[in-house]
Amino acid sequence: MYSNDRKEYLLEVKNRTDHLSYALEIIESNFIALYQLLETTTTLSHSLPLDRSSHEEFLTKIFSSARSSLIYGIGIWYEPYVFSPDRQWYGPYIHYNDPRGGLFSVSYEWSTPEYEYHRTDWYKKILDSASDGFYLTAPYFDTDYTYITVGKPFYREGRKAGVITIDIIRPLLEDFFRQFDFSDYEGLILTLSDRSIIYAVSCIDKGSGGVSMFQEENTEVFNRGKTLEMFTRKGITPLLLETETKDKRFKLYGVTDRKEIIRGLIKHYSRNYIIFLFFSLMLPFFYYLSLRTKRKDIENRQLNFENTSLKIEIQKRKEAETALEFIAYHDPVTGLHNLNAFFETIDSPYGLEDSRYLIQVSLENMRELSIIMDRDIIDSILKEFAGRLVSNCPENAGLFRGRGFNFYIVCMDTPRGNALNLSRSLLQEFRRAILLHNRNIRLRVRFGLAAFAEAEDLNQAVNMSQATLSGNNSKQIDQIFLYNDRIQENNSRMINLDAAMSQNSFIDELHLLYQPIIRVEDRKTVGAEALLRWNSSYTGTIVSPADFIPLAEENGYIIELGWFVLRETIRVLASGIIPGDWFISVNVSPLQFIESGFPDKLDAMMDAAGIDKKRIKLEITESSASSTAQYFWQSVEELINREYRLAIDDFGTGESSFHRLYTLAFDTLKVDRTFVKDIQAAPRNIEIFRSLLNLGKSMENMVIVEGIETEKEHELLKSLGMTYAQGYLYSRPAVLEDIIQEKPPC
Ligand code: C2E
Ligand code: MG
Ligand code: MG
Repeated sequence: MYSNDRKEYLLEVKNRTDHLSYALEIIESNFIALYQLLETTTTLSHSLPLDRSSHEEFLTKIFSSARSSLIYGIGIWYEPYVFSPDRQWYGPYIHYNDPRGGLFSVSYEWSTPEYEYHRTDWYKKILDSASDGFYLTAPYFDTDYTYITVGKPFYREGRKAGVITIDIIRPLLEDFFRQFDFSDYEGLILTLSDRSIIYAVSCIDKGSGGVSMFQEENTEVFNRGKTLEMFTRKGITPLLLETETKDKRFKLYGVTDRKEIIRGLIKHYSRNYIIFLFFSLMLPFFYYLSLRTKRKDIENRQLNFENTSLKIEIQKRKEAETALEFIAYHDPVTGLHNLNAFFETIDSPYGLEDSRYLIQVSLENMRELSIIMDRDIIDSILKEFAGRLVSNCPENAGLFRGRGFNFYIVCMDTPRGNALNLSRSLLQEFRRAILLHNRNIRLRVRFGLAAFAEAEDLNQAVNMSQATLSGNNSKQIDQIFLYNDRIQENNSRMINLDAAMSQNSFIDELHLLYQPIIRVEDRKTVGAEALLRWNSSYTGTIVSPADFIPLAEENGYIIELGWFVLRETIRVLASGIIPGDWFISVNVSPLQFIESGFPDKLDAMMDAAGIDKKRIKLEITESSASSTAQYFWQSVEELINREYRLAIDDFGTGESSFHRLYTLAFDTLKVDRTFVKDIQAAPRNIEIFRSLLNLGKSMENMVIVEGIETEKEHELLKSLGMTYAQGYLYSRPAVLEDIIQEKPPC
């Protein structure tokens, strides 16, 4: 047993001993009460008149005042002849009629032969005891019950007159002991100091009503060994606990089963052990639970995290979808709706009642600008344009960006006049230059109007508005065109041309015509401009470069086409067919300039042909010369550095960068034909012309005036200082042989 258990065990034993001591104390105090009563009775009795009634009255009073529950009867027992000289014995005795109390009665014992009390053991022992002492008899059986008597002799006239007794019967003792809980005890034994047992009970045979282990008639003496053995025989491991009163008059023994105590302890502890065991066993489970909880927690967190991630993901997807949707339906540069949105949101034309108009706005010079300008500048221009479009269109108008630099306006339920008015006011608006990076950029805008009423579906409406633009001369800038049948024809023609250009025979069908460039002074040819012609087998016609050059720039054939012209020109120069002091001007698309390695490739061709670079002039249009794109100017500079001669074509129609004109050594300025046409309209134009010529001269440029058709123009411009000219007056573009005839080769 663990020391802790032993301690518990001892404590358990001590508790039981204390329990016995407590019971014994109560027994003692009850007996003390009996002694006091006995004392009082003996004191009073010696002066009692020796008659029956006095004794009867006295005993009744004493009995009634007695407080102890142990008292069964009180007797005054006289020695023979003391009460009366003629009577041998006399003993008035008062007692309950029932062993458990209740009614009581007084009886008189008088010299009856069957009851000679002075011969009984109890009487003799009490009478023989010390006169001032009490005597407690061992249990004895007397007619009905087992008695224990406490008695004291009394004196009359100086001699022992008899004994006064207080009787305790066994039923009363049993009642008395019943007030204590001795259920934990296997047996209980109360003894007197001489070890005579006055009360003993075995609790083992509880079923038989607590039968005493002692025979009723027996007056046993307590024997430790015998007692223990008796319990051992009953399968008990007895432990005898004993306690005695201070005066050692009583001893109380409690028999407990040692095993029972240990069992109790085990039971007590086992409960703890079980709890402990339970928790020990449950520990892994709790651990598992806590792990599970933790795992759940982690899982929950994970779930929460995943949930949050999912939410974020969903949010992101939504945002992405929104962004995608935005991208799907918006133009990222201008923020305007795109053609997808146009086809999804605009209702199809619904016949003659449909008063809507589709206005296509084409930014004519943007394609060129986008080749030669940085992209962010192009984007800024487009944003500015879109901003103006939004602020100048009515709220109910739908605005869309189409392919390239085309924009669409749907005038909702607008009468025809209003669509035109809107176009006019927009035209006015876009004439205002856009100021970007300290630079004025003028948009060349064209408007193509198509009535919904004339279209069968949206696609047709778009095609019609497109046709109004492409069916008209692209040089007619700042114009508003209305769709008509001719336009439709033109449009189909362009589609036709595009198809023709994609034929393998395209390049083979090209040839050059040459238009002489003359010196005004003597009208002698100094050079010629190579002008491309296309004799298309597909269309069966000769196609004008004004038609197919822009188309070739759109579909990319311009590069191949450009090399054809250069190759052909170099071949002509190298062939010696033309006079050696002539030069040939070649129109070069800005797209060709930005082709990587263009100067090298050209050099290679020139070197291979052994041609002097002075004999070739590369014409670039003025609008492309207004380029801000670095690589364009790098190429121009490179060509100038390699001693090529560069001409600015159509001078006066585009946005000239005078800064560039001054800083780059251009060789020639070709003044556009429109100046010649306008010259006679107003005297102011003469001044403009004069200053243009002076500008060229001051820059030491060759100034060639294009489009001289009449002698009048020739004379007038000659008087203004024109030195070189080109025009129908001198010669239309012609085959080489025709222009050479004028001046045979040197
Ligand atoms: P451009 O370079 O300004 O060429 C002059 C244009 O004016 C030619 O038209 C010519 O026939 C025309 N022209 C000359 N004198 C007169 C005149 O007195 N009155 C009128 N009304 N027109 C006159 P063309 O040949 O139709 O060429 C048109 C444009 O096509 C050219 O204008 C040029 O920009 C482009 N082009 C022609 N050939 C080529 C080429 O080989 N490559 C490139 N990139 N463009 C070319
Ligand atoms: Mg030209
Ligand atoms: Mg020109």
